[in-house]
Amino acid sequence: MELLKQKITEQGVIVSDQVLKLDGLLNHQVDPKLTMEMGKEFAKRFGDAGVTRVVTVESSGIAVAFATAYELGVPLLFARRKKTLLAEPDMLCERVPSFTKGIVTDILVSREFISENDRVLFIDDIIANGDAARGLIKIISRAGAELVGAGIVVEKCFQSGARAIRDQGIRLESLVRIASLDGGQITFAD
Ligand code: 5GP
Repeated sequence: MELLKQKITEQGVIVSDQVLKLDGLLNHQVDPKLTMEMGKEFAKRFGDAGVTRVVTVESSGIAVAFATAYELGVPLLFARRKKTLLAEPDMLCERVPSFTKGIVTDILVSREFISENDRVLFIDDIIANGDAARGLIKIISRAGAELVGAGIVVEKCFQSGARAIRDQGIRLESLVRIASLDGGQITFAD
């Protein structure tokens, strides 16, 4: 997506050779028009996959997952990161390391909203080491649902997450691929 590349170039802040801050469009502020375009693109790519449910992890994946679910005409389910007092005791739970927070957190999904009848599309904002994706993929599998693929807004190709997921035979589509952040510069992969 050329428009997305342009926005990333304009608004991305390189924090280190591993981390790109995208608060202006993904992780703090949301650009509704651009986000709806991302949803349209994912819906186009996975439109023939028979998706019944879009799943993401709170919080930064929610906006683009919403846009995708809206375009596909299916519900959006987001995994919670905190157990609330209203949470059911037997929620599906996986422990995942958080790339940006440097801590381990639980991600939780209620069995009420995902079942063996579902064909699930996983959507997320950024993939680095792939821990969040792996955790959610495990939850989808434990629910007995079928994962039809993963749609990621920004793939950092110099980290191992996307490759590892593809090596499992999972279809992973990203809108923008970043080859490197070396030398204080964003280099796109294609
Ligand atoms: P992973 O589990 O793939 O290592 O990391 C995925 C999550 O960490 C993403 O959902 C994203 O929120 C966060 N993350 C990973 N790398 C970056 C980055 O370079 N910049 C920002 N802003 N978030 C990142």
